[in-house]
Amino acid sequence: MTDEPIADDPHARSSEPSPGTVSVSAVPETDNTWRLRRESLSLIDIVGRFAALPLMTALRRALLLSLPLVMVGAFAHFINVLVSLSLADDLPTQVSEAVRSICSTTIEGTFGLVALVAVLGFPYSFATLTGAKSDRYPVNPASASMVALSCFFILVAPDTIDRWRDALSSTHGLPAALAVAIGSSCLFLFLARRPQFRFRLRGFGADPLVGDLFSILPAAVATIAVFAMIRQAQLELGGPDLTTALSSLISAPFVGAEPSALIVATYSMLSQVIWFLGGHGANMLGPALHQIVTSAGEAAASGGGTPHVVTMNFFSVYSAFGGAGSTLCLIVALLFADREPSIRRLAWLSLLPALVNVNEPLLFGLPVILNPIYVVPFILTPVALSLLGYFATAVGLVPVLEHAVPWTMPPLLNGYLATGSSSGLILQLISLAIGTFFYLPFVRIAARLRLAENAKAMNALLVASESDEAAGGFKLIDLPGTPGRFAGTLASDLSESLRSANQLYLQYQPQVCIEERRVFGVEALLRWEHEVYGSIPPPITVALAEDMGLIDQLGNYVLRLACRQRVAWKGAVPADLIVSVNVSPHQLLNPDFDRVVLEILAEEGLRPGLLELEITESTSLVPAVRALEALLRLRNAGVRIALDDFGMGHTSLHYLRELPLDTLKIDRSLTFTSQGDLNEHVIRSIVSLSRTLGLRAVVEGIEQPEQLPKFIDLGCGRFQGYLFSPPLGSGPCLEYIRANAGAA
Ligand code: C2E
Ligand code: MG
Ligand code: MG
Repeated sequence: MTDEPIADDPHARSSEPSPGTVSVSAVPETDNTWRLRRESLSLIDIVGRFAALPLMTALRRALLLSLPLVMVGAFAHFINVLVSLSLADDLPTQVSEAVRSICSTTIEGTFGLVALVAVLGFPYSFATLTGAKSDRYPVNPASASMVALSCFFILVAPDTIDRWRDALSSTHGLPAALAVAIGSSCLFLFLARRPQFRFRLRGFGADPLVGDLFSILPAAVATIAVFAMIRQAQLELGGPDLTTALSSLISAPFVGAEPSALIVATYSMLSQVIWFLGGHGANMLGPALHQIVTSAGEAAASGGGTPHVVTMNFFSVYSAFGGAGSTLCLIVALLFADREPSIRRLAWLSLLPALVNVNEPLLFGLPVILNPIYVVPFILTPVALSLLGYFATAVGLVPVLEHAVPWTMPPLLNGYLATGSSSGLILQLISLAIGTFFYLPFVRIAARLRLAENAKAMNALLVASESDEAAGGFKLIDLPGTPGRFAGTLASDLSESLRSANQLYLQYQPQVCIEERRVFGVEALLRWEHEVYGSIPPPITVALAEDMGLIDQLGNYVLRLACRQRVAWKGAVPADLIVSVNVSPHQLLNPDFDRVVLEILAEEGLRPGLLELEITESTSLVPAVRALEALLRLRNAGVRIALDDFGMGHTSLHYLRELPLDTLKIDRSLTFTSQGDLNEHVIRSIVSLSRTLGLRAVVEGIEQPEQLPKFIDLGCGRFQGYLFSPPLGSGPCLEYIRANAGAA
């Protein structure tokens, strides 16, 4: 016998009930941390809405799609750097050459195809995002990709194999690829969703896809023809191909420009804008940098300008910490200010490549690219840091970068080696701190936006989990869009939590009998305190467990904890105090259900008569013979059975007779009654029906004192609700029970 609470609730609420007679407590505040105060989000909302535009989302997804390729490419690049460094000198030449050759082909097959992935990925995502199931003229997203691919090959079509490589790669090809993908899919989808550009061929061919593909032919022909004509015009005018044209256009402002703070800032900013749009800023501005360095040399030779401040490795030493965007600063800011495990994992994972100035995992993974939240620090941090480097060198605080270092040399080390002085390293450390400081507020904004998005998704999940519909047997994880993806994340976290069980615990809500002025039972309610999203509503937890096939495991865990708690309270609470446990319909369908319940009772040493199983009305919608038999066997063994949420509309009176019941729990939705209204009549009927059937009626969800006399008049004597007590941790609940033990 012990008073000690077991499986103690680590998040015990502070709402301590006051001893005395059956006490009335205030309605507890909803403590779901995922509910964000909306009023503070207005500015962020605007940014968020822009980011959520279908065009922006599709662009981000198109770039994100290449993430696996980019990660493999970055890894190959990293190995290549290691093998090229002197530490690999000990390797036999043949081995190092073979490794480098494997790395090169891997880089070509990964980085080298990023533009192609974007050409296919953008139209697919855009068609999906802008389409609806109810579209009168639906477009298969794969056909949008095919049309864009064709337009890309027609318009870009370089004449040599090297130029083809450029056109398909992330380094040179992305701007043109994205331009063609956006242009062609906007045009194609615009046309294909108009009746004038569709053949009416529904039901054509055995496979519906045949009809779909034939029907978009006019739109496809028109779009491809437009791009073919643009190409022809370009050939006749004799201009360069699109990839080259975009590249020269971008580097035009730097031709013959003398190096100055303005030029440094402009170069840095332009390079960042290109990176932000998904292009390879450093590669695309390669000729421009060459121009600046040459002009610096010429200016120095003629005795003007600031000699050699801008060298070929100036930007990679002073602004590209961890890659374009000074992403090492972003990584440090993320590790400092973002609590979300998936983001922290990404930051740690990005750290190693960032140490050799490869930042694609972060750029595409976070993502930074085309993410409006990061546009300001991503562009301004490198600008500020390169200006700091420029002025520090110009006034002689640090030596000029005389020594050549490869761009893959880790930050800090490259500063030291390139300047040949510790002042270079110190300047980089200061820059790192400044850059981190720049990124911090934006990291916090992004985290808050994510929370707001999750809150919306959580609401959608709550609605779905409480509905009776389940597409393909899955209630949550198959939901479309963000809610479905969020459910997937939560589902895998739930499996993890079930294994360690430190985030899952129970609270107990007292049930009181007014006549006896005492607590006669407690309902055990599941709580999941997620480390990031706070408390997850139990209907979501239960629906996720059902989706994942974990409901038996979760149900047994809850049952065991509740039984164990009741045994631990032995002697400290009235001997007949009942503990109620909710049972999901899926648990009832398990052929071993009754056996397992009895086993748990035996193992925990609890008398079956002290356990009540609450089945929901929707359970009784499908009174499978197997479930009925299991319930009968349990009842014969002494376990009590309650019908939960009665009155919500599912249960036929027929089932009331069929089910082996002891208790009817009248749903909260019926508790809002006024004199003579329908609810009052319904409750009166339920109370008299339960008397006739010999059932105990318990009214759920009583919140206001003025509700009570009405129910007592209607013949109800047993209640559960915030008016008496919210669900409590085991310790406070025991205090409440003892304080309200009544005559017994
Ligand atoms: P339920 O079984 O009907 O439990 C009563 C719910 O009403 C609880 O919500 C409780 O906190 C809430 N409640 C109690 N008094 C009041 C009141 O005065 N006002 C209002 N507004 N609400 C009140 P909770 O804990 O969020 O649980 C929701 C549902 O999740 C439960 O409804 C039950 O269907 C399900 N659930 C909870 N724990 C478990 C579990 O361990 N297993 C299963 N299968 N389902 C569970
Ligand atoms: Mg219940
Ligand atoms: Mg209920």
